[in-house]
Amino acid sequence: MHLARFNRVSLGHFPTPLERMDNLTRRLGGPDIYLKRDDCTGLATGGNKTRKLEFLVADALAQGADTLVTQGATQSNHVRQTAAAARRLGLECHALLERRVTNMGGGYESAGNVLLDDLLGCIYEFRDEGLDMNAEAEALGADLRARGRKPYVIPGGGSNPIGALGYARCAAELVQQADDRGLKIDKLVHATGSAGTQAGLVAGLHAMSAPIDVLGISVRAARDKQIQNVHKLACETAELLGLTSMPAREQVVAFDEYVGPGYGQPTPEMVAAIQLLASEEGIFLDPVYSGKGMAGLIGLVRDGVLKQGENVVFIHTGGSAALFAYRDLFSRQRAA
Ligand SMILES: *Cc1c(COP(=O)(O)O)cnc(C)c1O
Repeated sequence: MHLARFNRVSLGHFPTPLERMDNLTRRLGGPDIYLKRDDCTGLATGGNKTRKLEFLVADALAQGADTLVTQGATQSNHVRQTAAAARRLGLECHALLERRVTNMGGGYESAGNVLLDDLLGCIYEFRDEGLDMNAEAEALGADLRARGRKPYVIPGGGSNPIGALGYARCAAELVQQADDRGLKIDKLVHATGSAGTQAGLVAGLHAMSAPIDVLGISVRAARDKQIQNVHKLACETAELLGLTSMPAREQVVAFDEYVGPGYGQPTPEMVAAIQLLASEEGIFLDPVYSGKGMAGLIGLVRDGVLKQGENVVFIHTGGSAALFAYRDLFSRQRAA
């Protein structure tokens, strides 16, 4: 694996910190828990999409694009980071926001990430749930091309082999950090959605023959479907990297017990995980992804999958801007 062979623009602050969570480790009474702070990637409040966008936007520029087109759910962190990347490079950003969550009250379509999209000058339109959103984005791209723009269409979550290179790079960064401090990592845990994060990690760790398990906590799809999506993209990413062997399907592990009623829908475990990280470590998770990812980590400690004596790294993928669209969930702690 030699990532300098690929075009990349600098958008974030790297390496992100790797921090031991002393209070959380003590509270959970299981493995030693570390956070890889990809909530601190630095681009417009940070998050995991920044790593993918470094490669995707470089590809867009190499192709002479003047406009980025993408799509996501209403509170998409990916759309927010894409819009910020566009601003940094003098590009226009057009986005489609899918109404995947419609029961969260008044501010959902204007607060949190949507507020930041507005500030970033992102030109967005809403779509009702259930369409093929990547096809909708391609159609928008074709429309912009017909109007004389040079669009570059980024799939949802930036999850294609080029975007996943960002997480192959993260795998290398993380292993280097661990080696520098003599830390043996046993397992990684993170929220998995459009699959690029986990696929890139699996491909990157496979390239380095690093025996670290990657446990994805699904925020949407059923287990088998998520594993299939991640494995397919991990193989495509390995191919792009020029690896001589493909990651095995057994290298992709996912859990779907923490999705709850659906994408973006709250669960009591997610709320508890967000409150726990805030109160024990002063760290903000988010309701859609990292809160459910941490609920998964806590559940896996309880179930004995993550054990005392192991070093577990939770990849904090960001997303706290969405907290502001879920205000009512966290009202109960206010003094009367
Ligand atoms: C997009 C996102 C994820 C999931 O990453 P994928 O690469 O889509 O699987 C996790 N956490 C946050 C905060 C995200 O925005």
